[in-house]
Amino acid sequence: MAKLISGSEYSQKVLQEVAEKLKETKEKNPTFQACLAIVQVGNRSDSNVYIGAKLKKAAEIGAEGKLIKLPETITQGELEAEIDKLNNDDNVDGIIVQLPLDTVNEIDADSVVDRIHPLKDVDGLTRENAGRLFRGELDKTIFPCTPFGCLYLVQQVTGDLNFVAGKNVVVLGRSKIVGSPAASLFMWHHGTTTICHSKTQNVKEQCLKADILIVAIGRKHYVKGDWIKPGAVVIDCGINVEEATEPGKKNRLFGDVDTEAAKQVAGYITPVPGGVGPMTVAMLIRNTVEQAIRRKLSGGQGGNWPITYLKPKLVTPVPSDIAVSRSQVPKNIDMLAKEVGILHSELDLFGKKKAKVSLDIIKRLQHVKDGRYVVVTGITPTPLGEGKSTTTIGLVQALGAHLKKNVFACVRQPSQGPTFGIKGGAAGGGYSQVIPMEEFNLHLTGDIHAITAANNLLAAAIDARMFHEATQQDDALFNRLCPQNKQGVRVLSAVQKRRLSRLGFPVVDDGNLLTSEQKAKFARLDIDVSTITWNRVMDVNDRFLRGIEVGLGSQEKGHTRKTQFDITVASEIMAILALTTSLSDLRDRISKIVIASDKQGQPVTADDIGITDALTVLMRDTVRPNLMQTLEGTPVFVHAGPFANIAHGQSSILADKVALKLVGENGFVITEAGFGADIGMEKFFDIKCRYSGLLPSAVVLVATVRALKMHGGGPAVVAGAPLKHEYLDENIELVTKGCDSNLRKQIENANKFGVPVVVCVNRFSTDTANELEIVVEKAKSYGAQNAVVSEHWAKGGAGAIQLANAVVEATSEKSNFKFLYPLDLGLEEKIATIAREIYGADGIELSEAAKEKIERYTRQGFSKLPICMAKTHLSLSHDPTKKGAPTGFILPIRDVRASVGAGFIYPLVGEMTTMPGLSTRPCFFDITIDPETEQIDGLF
Ligand code: NAP
Repeated sequence: MAKLISGSEYSQKVLQEVAEKLKETKEKNPTFQACLAIVQVGNRSDSNVYIGAKLKKAAEIGAEGKLIKLPETITQGELEAEIDKLNNDDNVDGIIVQLPLDTVNEIDADSVVDRIHPLKDVDGLTRENAGRLFRGELDKTIFPCTPFGCLYLVQQVTGDLNFVAGKNVVVLGRSKIVGSPAASLFMWHHGTTTICHSKTQNVKEQCLKADILIVAIGRKHYVKGDWIKPGAVVIDCGINVEEATEPGKKNRLFGDVDTEAAKQVAGYITPVPGGVGPMTVAMLIRNTVEQAIRRKLSGGQGGNWPITYLKPKLVTPVPSDIAVSRSQVPKNIDMLAKEVGILHSELDLFGKKKAKVSLDIIKRLQHVKDGRYVVVTGITPTPLGEGKSTTTIGLVQALGAHLKKNVFACVRQPSQGPTFGIKGGAAGGGYSQVIPMEEFNLHLTGDIHAITAANNLLAAAIDARMFHEATQQDDALFNRLCPQNKQGVRVLSAVQKRRLSRLGFPVVDDGNLLTSEQKAKFARLDIDVSTITWNRVMDVNDRFLRGIEVGLGSQEKGHTRKTQFDITVASEIMAILALTTSLSDLRDRISKIVIASDKQGQPVTADDIGITDALTVLMRDTVRPNLMQTLEGTPVFVHAGPFANIAHGQSSILADKVALKLVGENGFVITEAGFGADIGMEKFFDIKCRYSGLLPSAVVLVATVRALKMHGGGPAVVAGAPLKHEYLDENIELVTKGCDSNLRKQIENANKFGVPVVVCVNRFSTDTANELEIVVEKAKSYGAQNAVVSEHWAKGGAGAIQLANAVVEATSEKSNFKFLYPLDLGLEEKIATIAREIYGADGIELSEAAKEKIERYTRQGFSKLPICMAKTHLSLSHDPTKKGAPTGFILPIRDVRASVGAGFIYPLVGEMTTMPGLSTRPCFFDITIDPETEQIDGLF
C-alpha cells in the first residue's frame, strides 16, 4: 500500500523555511522586502481563486503581494508596457502573469511572459530561464514552480536528495508549464527521462518502466493502477474539476491518476487535492524571496554578467587603428545590453552597434551598491599624447575579458573637428579600442548635433532680442512679448513668470496688471553687448569663424557686432551635459547660463531670454548615455566630451552613475580625465566628483618613457617631425630625471586627494627593459601604491592583465578621498591653492581684467563655484616649454570667466583657442569611402 505524500504538509514546511529566511534577511537589512506582483487580465473565477491563494501565502510569510488587474480589452502592447513598468519598479521582485489570459483581443501570451525580466521571473517561464533549464544551467535559472514542487516532494519523501539519479523517470505531458520543464529538471537531476504525449503509442508500457511517474495531462483518472510499476513514486499534477450538480455542494477535484487503484501498487503517491497544488504556491513564494535576495543583495545584478567576450586577432606589426577595428566582428548592441543587465525597455537602438540607454536604470538598480570607480589620467604629455584612452580601454578589456570582472569604460565622445583635422578621434588605438571606430568618430547618436542646435538657438535669441529692444519703445516691446488674447488678457508663459519673480515683481496672470515701470524692466534685458560671452558653435575645425561680424543684412538696420564661432565641444551646453545628474537638473543648469551682464552689471541668463525649456527640449535625448563596445566585447559608455581647457574635459556623470549600478558592488567603472593629471585629475576630483557625489577608488597614472625623457631634458617633441635619437635609444639619465621631476610631482598630487595611485607605464617598442625598470622602481618610491608595465596597445587586454590586477588590489579598500579646497574659500584663494599645491607655483598674479571679473562674479553671487583652470597641458606651469616640475614661478591669470550653468569659474592662464583650424594638409585627404561596400578608410 502506497504512502500518501502530503503536499499540504510539505508546502507548509517550505513556507516556514522561507518565512525564517525572509525574517533573517530583514533583520540584517532593515529596508529589505520581497514583493510578488501578479498580473491578471480579465476576471476568470478560477484565476481569482488561484491568485487569492498566492497573495494569502505571500502575506503569511511576511512578503508583499500585489495584484495588477487589467481589463479584458487590453492590447498586447499595453500589456507589455505594464510588464515593463513592473520590470522597472525596484520594489517588485517577482512577476507572474496569471494564465490563461481572459481577453477579447488576440494576445501572444508567450511573448508577454517573455517580457518579464529574467531576474524577476519567478515561474521560470521566460525563454531565457526556460532555455537555461533545458540546457542544464541550473545555477543560472529559476525552477518553474510545479516541476520544482514535484522534485521537492520526491526528494523529501524518499529522504534522499539524489534519489532521482539513475532512476527511470516518465513524464506524461509536454506543456511549457509542467511536462517539458519537469522532464528537463528531472533529467538534469540525472534521471533517465522519457516524455509521453498525446501521440505516444504505448503510454501504459512506458509508465510501467517508471521508477518515478509524473503525470500532467489534465484527464481525470487516465492512468490506471495496472500502469504503475510496483514501488514507484507517483506524482499526480492533474487538476480536473467536476462541477457540483446540486446547489450547496462543492465542486470536486480529481487527479490524472486513478489514486485508489494506484495506491495498491505504488510506493508513494500524491493525492488530489492536497498534493502538488499547494506545493506550486509554496515554490512560487520561495522563488520570489530567492530572486529578491539574488537581485538586491548578491553583489549587484546577480553576480558576474553572462557575457561573451571577443577574441582579438593579434597581428604584428600592429595594423592601422581602423584596420584593427574592422578585423573584429562586434556583437549586436542589443545582445551586449542584455548581457550586462539592461532591459529591452531601457534601450533605444541606433542601428546595430550603438544604442542609448535609459536613466531609469539608476532608479531600477537603486538597491545595488556602486562598483569601484577608477580614473585614468597621465603625467604631463608630449604633444603626441601618452595613451590614456588606449590604457582606459586596455584596462577594461583586461578586467573583463581576462579577469572576468563586471566592468564598464566611460569615455568622451570625440569632436568631429579633429577627426577631419590633424589629430584623428579614435578612442584608444591598436588592440585597445572602442569599435566600430567609424561609428564612434562620426555623428554617434547625434548628441553633438543637438548641442549645436541648442547653443545656436540661444545665440540667435540673444541677437534677436537685442535687435528688438533696440528698435522698439517699452510699451510696444512689452506688448509684443506678452500679446493680448481674445479676452484681452496678456498671458505670461511660465518662463516669463519666473523672470517677474526674479525681478521681485508680483507674479501676475495678466500682464496688464503690471505698472509701466515694471513692464519696462521686465521687457528690457538691456544687455551690455561688450559682455556677451555666448558664441555660436560648429563641430568643424573652421579657422575663418574665429572672428566674424553678424547683422550685416539690410533688415538688421546696421545692428552689427563682432563675435566668433567656437567648436561645439567648447559650448557650455556640452559642459552642462557632462555635469548634469538628471533631465530636471539639466534644465535647471540651462536656466542659469549667464550669457552677458546688463548695463547695470547684473547677470543676464538663458531664463531671462525665455529659452530654458526650449533648449532642454532640444537636449532631451542627449542625457541618455550611448552604449558601445570594446574590441574584446566589453561594454563602453560614450557620453559627452567637453573641452579639457575652458571646461573640465570629462565624460558624463550620468554614464558613470548608470555604469556603477550596472557593474554592481564587485564591478569596476573606468573613466578617463582629459589632459595631464595636474588638469584632468584635479578637475575630475574637484568638479566632477563634487557634483556627482561619487567616491573615486583609485587613480591610474599613465606614463611613457618618451614623455619622461622629455621631462628629463630631452629635445622638444614636435608633432609631425621624426623623433630625435634620445627617444629611440636607451637613455637612463633622461628617464631618471623625468621620473624625479614630473612623475614624482604628479604622484604626489594624486596622493593629496587621498586616493591610491597605480602608475601604468604604457610600453612602446623602443623602450628598453632597463628604462622600464627604473620607472617602476621610481614610481613606487615616490608614493605610487603600485607601478606596472603594460602592453595593451600591442596585445589588447592580455597585455594589461598585470595592470588590471594592480587596480583590483588598489581598490580593495575604500579610499580616503578628499577635495583639494572647500567651496567657501574665495575665488582668488581657490585659484591660488590649485596653482601652489598642484602646479608648484609660488603664487598667482591677477591681471586687471581678472581682478575685475573676480570682483564681479563675487558680487553676482558666484564665488562658491569650483574652479576650472584653463591652462596649457604641456607643462605643470603656464609655459609649455617648461618641462619636468618647474618651481619658482608665479602663475599669471590673464582673465576669469564663468560657466554658471555648468557650474564653474574658469581662469584663463594664457591664450586658449576655442576653435581649432585646419592645416595645409588635414587628414581628410586620406579619408575615403567605397560606394559599393560603404567601407570607410583613412580614419585614425
Ligand atoms: P496542457 O497544456 O493541456 O498539456 C497537456 C499535455 O498532456 C500535453 O502535452 C498533451 O500532449 C498531453 N496529453 C494529453 N492527453 C494525453 C494522453 N492521452 N496521453 C499522453 N499525454 C497526453 O496542460 P498543463 O498545463 O500541462 O496541465 C496538465 C494538468 O496539470 C492539468 O490538469 C492542470 O490543471 C494541472 N496543473 C496543475 C498545477 C498544479 O499546481 N498542481 C499546475 C499546472 C497545471 P500534446 O502535447 O500532444 O497535446
